[in-house]
Amino acid sequence: MSVQVFKTEARTTVDSYGHRHPGPSAQTTQALLSITTTDGAVGRVLGKPNYLRRDQIEQHVGPVLVGSDPLARESFEKQFAIRQRTRAVELPEHSLSYVDQALWDLAGVMFGTPVWKLLGGARESVKAYASTMCGDSLDGGLSSPQDYATFAVELKARGYTGIKLHTWMPPLDNAPNLARDIEACAAVRDAVGPDFSLMLDGYHWYSRTEALTLGRELDRLRFDWFEEPMDEFSLRSYRWLSEQVATPVIGPETVPGRHRSRAEWIVNDACDILRVGAMNGGGITPALKTMHMAEGFGMECEVHGNGAPNLALVGGSSVAHWYERGLLHPLVDYDWVPPHLLSIVDPVRPDGTVAMPLAPGLGEAVDLDYVAANLVEEY
Ligand code: MG
Repeated sequence: MSVQVFKTEARTTVDSYGHRHPGPSAQTTQALLSITTTDGAVGRVLGKPNYLRRDQIEQHVGPVLVGSDPLARESFEKQFAIRQRTRAVELPEHSLSYVDQALWDLAGVMFGTPVWKLLGGARESVKAYASTMCGDSLDGGLSSPQDYATFAVELKARGYTGIKLHTWMPPLDNAPNLARDIEACAAVRDAVGPDFSLMLDGYHWYSRTEALTLGRELDRLRFDWFEEPMDEFSLRSYRWLSEQVATPVIGPETVPGRHRSRAEWIVNDACDILRVGAMNGGGITPALKTMHMAEGFGMECEVHGNGAPNLALVGGSSVAHWYERGLLHPLVDYDWVPPHLLSIVDPVRPDGTVAMPLAPGLGEAVDLDYVAANLVEEY
């Protein structure tokens, strides 16, 4: 097993709240986790260096994985859970997500099969919704409701059949702003017409009454779902909201606890559509459990986030209807191929769909020569 931290190029920046925005070309670092079998098969995943640190690999991941059967994911989950119980700060869920993703990539490589087929092979392509970046104050950006409407028309012309808005959030001045959120949703509905799917990922800490005001406007504007308007630690608030708005409430996105916390959301009627992702759900394994659990309760479960592991989840089960393609912005070229990749995994076709990758594993085309040539550190 190894982690290679390497230099590469980014064309977006992240603000102090963790939201991505357009930015100038800048140097950044990424990490490549590789897990190798005694037969020489390699599973890989790209990740953030902070979640693939030397101490995490040497003190926790290595001791569990080295010398074990690489397909024993359930056994690893138990061992990691024990380590997390008293040392959660040393071993966050995001770190385990990367390890689980690399193990699935390895399984795909070992069997010569794309991961989405190993997960269930539910479909060969999926419709993608265009997921926008948060609002900003940039010229030609997303600084007004009209900007969102103009961008929505452009996205519809590119073939997308659904758009999800992320509106204005702190640390931006005058954010959040309930009235402006409503104005943006109305402007976009007006721009794309009635027969087009729209979703809103609202501000994450609105109060109940603010969320209800927004939800009632979404009912009027016929939105497909209403995402994370409030703190997700309050199950009761989500149940309260779901009971009062017709627009399906979707969640949780960021709550830890993997499939177990999501089970509580189901039995407490806290949402209409369940949500999980390969990163926030603790990896592909617990996310797949969550999706199967949703199916048992007759619920949809939409997958959070873009990228190869999330695309594999969407391809593996039929309880998600969409792939989240983004984040998109008028000033950002999402199709730009960063220097450490040979191609992007999720090109969108003219009909707004994305094809499942056919290569064995997760299908991420990492340029290993580039990684080696731009190495900062390896452990
Ligand atoms: Mg979200």
